[in-house]
This record gives sequence, structure tokens and C-alpha cells, in this order.
Amino acid sequence: MGKSTVINALIPEAQRATMTISLALDSGRHTTTHARLYHLDALSTIIDSPGMQEFGINHIDKTNLARGFLEFHPYLGGSCKFSNCRHLTEPGCALLLAAEKGEINTRRLTVYQKMMEEAERRKDWLVRSS
Ligand SMILES: [Zn+2]
Repeated sequence: MGKSTVINALIPEAQRATMTISLALDSGRHTTTHARLYHLDALSTIIDSPGMQEFGINHIDKTNLARGFLEFHPYLGGSCKFSNCRHLTEPGCALLLAAEKGEINTRRLTVYQKMMEEAERRKDWLVRSS
């Protein structure tokens, strides 16, 4: 999953911006040409920069990925049935249950799950521009 895919999933307005840039360049692919800052909500900001891919996020290991989602915190650390729960399809998963009950945003959980699946597929996990 490319960086643009992640950002577009989190911020619908970003998609339009990305498409506009792609059309302007007539490249047919999503290209990040400028650093952009998006406000997700009062607490969260995303900075999309052409240089961001060099940092990657492979310093975040899979067990810590869920910690990157602030609203997941109350459900982490022993709430799930299995201590090594990946919060994908495991029975007794506190996050899945919370999403079912509407306590956390299912879209955010889906983004997390896509990132986790990607991390499991790839060893050197980097966020790349698509
Ligand atoms: Zn879980």
C-alpha cells in the first residue's frame, strides 16, 4: 500500500488534491510534489512530504503499530483474548468488538488492518509513494 493510499483513506479531501496534482503533471500516477499538511482532527496532523518515503515507518514494529492509533489505546495491553493479537480476525479481539459496538471508527480500524497485513507481507516495510 502506497503512502497516498493511506492518506486518502484517512482524509478524503487529500484524494482530490492528489488527483489534481497527477492531472497537472499528466503522469497518470499519484505523485507527491510538495509537502502538504492535513489536519485530521484537533489532535492529529499528517505531513505528506516527498522526502517522507526515505524515513519509512519500518522502525515501527508490528506489535507497536496499533499504538499509533491513539483511540485504540484503551483496548490494548491485555484486553484481547490472545496476548499476540494482531486485531485482524482473531476471536475475542477487543478492537474488533469495539468497532462492532461503534466505540472506535471502523474506517480507522480498516486502515490499521491494511497496514498490518502489508507489514506481514513485507519485511523491509516502507511507506512508498505509489
Ligand atoms: Zn485484538
